[in-house]
Amino acid sequence: MSNSIETKCLHAGYEPKNGEPRSLPIYQSTTFKYDSSDDMGKLFDLEASGYFYTRLQNPSNDLVAAKLTEMEGGYAGMLTSSGQAANFYAVFNICEAGDHFIASSSIYGGTFNLFGVTMKKMGIECTFVDQSLSYEELSKYFKPNTKCVFGETITNPTCNVLDFEKFSKLAHDHGVPLIIDNTFATPINCRPIEHGADIVTHSTTKYIDGHASSVGGAIIDSGNFDWLKDREKFPGLTTPDDSYHGIIYAEKFGKAAYITKATSQLMRDLGSIQAPQNSFYIQLGLESLHVRMQRHCENALKIAKFLESNDKVAWVNYPDLESSPSYELAKKYLPNGSCGVLCFGVKADREGQNRFMDGLKLATIATHVADCKTMLLHPASHTHRQLTEEQLKEAGIPSDLIRFSVGLENADDIIEDIKQALELI
Ligand SMILES: *Cc1c(COP(=O)(O)O)cnc(C)c1O
Repeated sequence: MSNSIETKCLHAGYEPKNGEPRSLPIYQSTTFKYDSSDDMGKLFDLEASGYFYTRLQNPSNDLVAAKLTEMEGGYAGMLTSSGQAANFYAVFNICEAGDHFIASSSIYGGTFNLFGVTMKKMGIECTFVDQSLSYEELSKYFKPNTKCVFGETITNPTCNVLDFEKFSKLAHDHGVPLIIDNTFATPINCRPIEHGADIVTHSTTKYIDGHASSVGGAIIDSGNFDWLKDREKFPGLTTPDDSYHGIIYAEKFGKAAYITKATSQLMRDLGSIQAPQNSFYIQLGLESLHVRMQRHCENALKIAKFLESNDKVAWVNYPDLESSPSYELAKKYLPNGSCGVLCFGVKADREGQNRFMDGLKLATIATHVADCKTMLLHPASHTHRQLTEEQLKEAGIPSDLIRFSVGLENADDIIEDIKQALELI
């Protein structure tokens, strides 16, 4: 289908045949029935494709993954139980103990911890880099054992846009794939594969679900990266997997190698599956995603402009504001709007900041973002509470940063709420 993205939201992935359910069926079954032992044996050898156990694959999950894959312009995709699982699998499918990779230091705190602490314990080293450095400066961080580069389309919580041209050139000149977490932009506003990314990840928990109903993640592979070109670098994909009679993923599955390996090896062994019931909710979210994203962006821009003009507000960063350091990149890569998340600081000490946040009535304090309801969070006293001022600075998070996730309410109501809370400072 060469349909536009809006139509894909509704129709991609699942196309019911005569007499089949119009809505996505929930295959609430752990297992699948076969007529012969031989039929089932072929599945275990990866000689035939089909379902045998939901820990590896489930039709509801696959239909939703197929929709998201089409929306991102990818070749193959899979769902995971969370965004954390998606980012872990995306990197771990390439890197093993002794390997190194590079990530932007401005990525989501949960991913920062996963890469910098937990994966380090597994023998995988991550170097965090300032994504605004030049191509030449960033090139210095590559080592012979560097296996991939990771960044976010729009960084959470600092709301900066990645320079795709610089990062895809950087990764590809060094013979490694570029992995992009596209959670904040969603495929409605940006499709990283069109800008040189090889693999895209999502926390579907955010805008894709959109209604704070289910935690989830996704990985979409473009199929564009040639694992065999420098096969020594990617042994997991280019040498025999003994657990499947010596299959070599890149040789046997071509463009589907990466997702086939992640499913048949990582899902099999680690089991971070999405629940079929949650896939149904994600599917509902995807159907209206294009309408919601448009309104999120309209509302956020109005609120960003209001904040910018208010003298109790110290600073604002929203990619679609001309004053944003990301404005030019946003125009280039997100011409239809960025997302509904913005960040700002108010002119007050910590106590005054708290009076402002506690004084909001419509916007609620929540550990969540990119949702249909307006919510906010103060990283320095919530998600990044353990960090010192110095560490916050290293992560590029000003201690007064308020992450404000603009919902689908009437924008004037949100502005009124902010106005009355600013009076309390
Ligand atoms: C929330 C988030 C994640 C983690 O996703 P979960 O679904 O909460 O596990 C990863 N990346 C970004 C950009 C996020 O906002």
